[in-house]
Amino acid sequence: MADEKVLRTWVYLQPPTDYGMGLCACGHPQPQWSEFKRYLWCPACKIDFQPEDAGVFDGPILVNTAALMGMHFTRYILATGKIEELKDYINEGKEIDHGRTDV
Ligand SMILES: [Zn+2]
Repeated sequence: MADEKVLRTWVYLQPPTDYGMGLCACGHPQPQWSEFKRYLWCPACKIDFQPEDAGVFDGPILVNTAALMGMHFTRYILATGKIEELKDYINEGKEIDHGRTDV
């Protein structure tokens, strides 16, 4: 399952490095969101890659703490071009739901 590539339906507005996600092996400092879930895109190598470090997405995310660190989880919905705020999809425990987040 981890190797299957599934197209994203949304991306976060902030770039992956804002969430502490890892870089491509070449070390390019600004990977982008890949068109595939769980992958990032390296503009230097022009490849999709899976970062070794998923940053904040490795564990439960405490939203208020993340906000203090400058992280926001607003999404851009690719099909509609609409913006979805965190409060529109967050679960009741006030943690990001990884089942739905699926970075
Ligand atoms: Zn690269």
